[in-house]
Amino acid sequence: MSVQIDLSNKTALVMGVANGRSLGWAIAEQLLTAGCRVGFSYQGERLKGELDKLLKDREGVWTQQADATSEEDLSALFARTKEEFGGLDYLVHAIAYAPRNAMEGRFVDTTPEDWNTSLHVSAYSLVAICRHAEPLFREGSSVVSLTYHASQQVVPKYNVMGVAKAALEAATRYLAADFGSREIRINTISAGPMRTIAARSIPGFGGLYDKGARNAAFGRNATSQEVGKLALFLLSDLGSGVTGQTMYVDAGLSIMTVKED
Ligand code: NAP
Repeated sequence: MSVQIDLSNKTALVMGVANGRSLGWAIAEQLLTAGCRVGFSYQGERLKGELDKLLKDREGVWTQQADATSEEDLSALFARTKEEFGGLDYLVHAIAYAPRNAMEGRFVDTTPEDWNTSLHVSAYSLVAICRHAEPLFREGSSVVSLTYHASQQVVPKYNVMGVAKAALEAATRYLAADFGSREIRINTISAGPMRTIAARSIPGFGGLYDKGARNAAFGRNATSQEVGKLALFLLSDLGSGVTGQTMYVDAGLSIMTVKED
């Protein structure tokens, strides 16, 4: 079910759509359905074909390559955003990465290189992106990113990614304070486990997903469409007054003690 909301005079930039299962795509679909004009950035040419396929019959969309850790790419991306839209109402950060070996062993063995890469891509990029976007933001502009409960509790194998998500959540609060005087809102959505490319690269994700479905209050995992709907609420004026928050959409998984292993 899609929510009836008119965003036909609004503009959005969605960063981090790898394919139709991406949480960034679930959010983009809600924005497009609401009539929003949407630009997309992708990291590398490798997955551009997937994005092009998703956007084939969509009007008024555009795409641009941008590695979220490259100042040069971000400058070019926001120059393009200015050229296409003039200003920016909504920004979606759906980007995370940790080297696989950092998620296989013990957390204590995390190398400085893996720590820096993971924190840079998955947390600092939100700060850099907001700085680049600032001149384009309007009063009432809104940013959402995606986080995960491993920031709050130890989830086996998440290791440095759990730390990166904790940093992302804290950065959300500091950015919300910086931008608050213009009533620009920054929030992060804590999603339950969803089958995406990024998730599949986490060792043991299949077991975690199945256990999540058994243990959640709903007896199932949340869906990417539910993430999209919460994002639509937070991005649009429905979420006015909400900033600096980590909001859960996990079918009630994080509130439960473990019923079953
Ligand atoms: P996804 O479809 O694989 O999306 C992750 C995106 O991040 C990809 O488009 C990837 O691009 C991009 N990315 C990685 N490094 C980048 C960089 N340096 N610059 C620009 N883009 C980069 O997986 P997803 O699960 O939807 O992930 C989206 C967000 O949701 C992430 O923050 C993730 O941690 C969060 N999340 C996911 C779950 C879950 O269970 N799936 C739960 C909670 C939160 P490439 O494909 O080109 O590398």
